[in-house]
Amino acid sequence: MAQEMRHPIESGCPDGFQYMHPAMRRNYGQWKFHEHPQPGVLRHVAHSGDEIWTVKCGTQRILDVFTLRKLTEIGDKFADGYIRFTIRSNVEYMVTDKAQVEPLIKALEDAGFIVGGTANSVAMISHTQGWLHCDIPGTDASGVVKSMMDELIDEFKGHNMPNRVHITTSCCQINCGGQGDIAINVQHTKPPKINHDLVANVCERPTVVARCPVAAIRPAMVNGKPSLEVDEKKCICCGACFPPCPPMQINDAEESKLAIWVGGNHSNARSKPTFQKLVAAGVPNNPPRWPEATAIVKRILKEYKEGAKDWERINDWIDRIGWPRFFEKTGLPFTKYHIDNWTGARNSLNASTHIRF
Ligand code: SF4
Ligand code: SF4
Repeated sequence: MAQEMRHPIESGCPDGFQYMHPAMRRNYGQWKFHEHPQPGVLRHVAHSGDEIWTVKCGTQRILDVFTLRKLTEIGDKFADGYIRFTIRSNVEYMVTDKAQVEPLIKALEDAGFIVGGTANSVAMISHTQGWLHCDIPGTDASGVVKSMMDELIDEFKGHNMPNRVHITTSCCQINCGGQGDIAINVQHTKPPKINHDLVANVCERPTVVARCPVAAIRPAMVNGKPSLEVDEKKCICCGACFPPCPPMQINDAEESKLAIWVGGNHSNARSKPTFQKLVAAGVPNNPPRWPEATAIVKRILKEYKEGAKDWERINDWIDRIGWPRFFEKTGLPFTKYHIDNWTGARNSLNASTHIRF
């Protein structure tokens, strides 16, 4: 007898519609306009006449269960029982009655949450947190975010900037981190140190060799054991060999630094995408408060706030005043390391799908 076919188990993101506020579901794709009546609050008006008031507050992203319970209890009591998280680790509550907005904000603030992050504010810093789920972090990105947002709290709570400011961080040098008006990324400054005793037991050597973007890794016999060697002149200290081969240790308390990039922007209705550019390298990765990196970010924000015209994003402002003026105003030193003069770039930039060596 033919057996009934086993169907694959569905996995992945559940359908988001089931979690949406009913007023959002009803008016999906039918919004007429939205506005920002006050910091941390959005008002959307639909063609049907329905209104949704959204209250946004920041979270620490890595949420313990008690904080989550508190956030959802506030949602049940003061909103309509619906919450959602944004990619910048904010939580948003939706209500349909303006009278619900102030009590909701009060409940959030009484519980210690910060309401803000809308319109021309410094939005919550987007970040990854490799310590919890990833095999290659070089720093504690959440700690950097916490230290910086503590200092930028007024910019999060107010609408004081010329335009929206998106800041991103990453906990390694090669993967997440994204385009931000300001990006704080890990910067390794020394090639990996190889623990030859472990390579043969732990690493797939061909995989590690293939991982290097500049072909700096070769198989080698060391003390009679199969291992690897790195051509340190070629190595660009990217850390890409470390995930497939932890014995190629690149993280270092002193030599893994932070670098700050500015001017990244995704394309939108008004402008083309722009790449971020390096403005500060070799910044100490200095926990628990990262004062050096925070001071640079604050200096850039201060000049942007004072010098940019309304609606100029950081990249627009720099385009208008020019890079020499940017360095002059922010007082950041312009060094030879800011010039991308690496001769191998033409061969390794991923401009096509062809494999090159
Ligand atoms: S930034 Fe790097 S270390 Fe952090 S989660 Fe992403 S891939 Fe992992
Ligand atoms: S750090 Fe990057 S460039 Fe250096 S050996 Fe490893 S993969 Fe290659």
